[in-house]
Amino acid sequence: MNQTQKKVLRIIEDLKEHLSYLKLFGFQEIPVEIPSLENFKNDVSKKPLTNMSLTLSEIKEELGDCRRCKLFSTRTHIVFGVGNKNADIVFVGEGPGQEEDKQGVPFVGMAGQKLTDIIEKGMGLKRSDVYICNIVKCRPPNNRDPEKDEIDACSSFLEKQIKAINPKVIVALGKPASSTLLGRNVAITRERGTWHSFQGYQVMLTFHPAYLLRFYTEENRRLVWEDMKKALSAI
Ligand code: SF4
Repeated sequence: MNQTQKKVLRIIEDLKEHLSYLKLFGFQEIPVEIPSLENFKNDVSKKPLTNMSLTLSEIKEELGDCRRCKLFSTRTHIVFGVGNKNADIVFVGEGPGQEEDKQGVPFVGMAGQKLTDIIEKGMGLKRSDVYICNIVKCRPPNNRDPEKDEIDACSSFLEKQIKAINPKVIVALGKPASSTLLGRNVAITRERGTWHSFQGYQVMLTFHPAYLLRFYTEENRRLVWEDMKKALSAI
């Protein structure tokens, strides 16, 4: 039984005890305020309901000193993810680069600085407001794209992270992240700026910040800003 299940069990036991106590004092029923139920419905309407998801620390614990795929042999650090555990937006990239591998933190190299600029200067949020992670948690050698067997071994942890955070929007950065979340080959230049769904979560596709560094044109900047405005409108 995980920590969340234990907490729910404790709450049920406390509630049972409290109800028995009220019964002793002659209570036959408990009034329920219908408006509070309405508020509850409104509050959760934008987020998919998660069922008994693990916490981020439990997921990290489960990942442990992972050797589920060949990337373990060349990594320095596992790069799990960083940010607000209750974030409305989760950014998903493809895998850690050299600097990320060294520090154990995602998006801290040059592409990371670009992503931080997009979040802070463009979207007007703080980097610590959002959550940032990758499809695979260990660096693919020479920054190559993650391979299918590596994605298959690692992606269940990404799914668990998303369920734990329960965001309103996922932003998929680049083709490998978009293709993994959508379960098909995504043509990112054609499909960026469009909405999709991953297990009930809204997904906005956009370019990877490394692509922006390589092709830093006014047009590409404008396109990414259009995509981020859409993501912002959903939160
Ligand atoms: S990439 Fe993922 S599955 Fe592969 S070793 Fe690293 S943490 Fe484990």
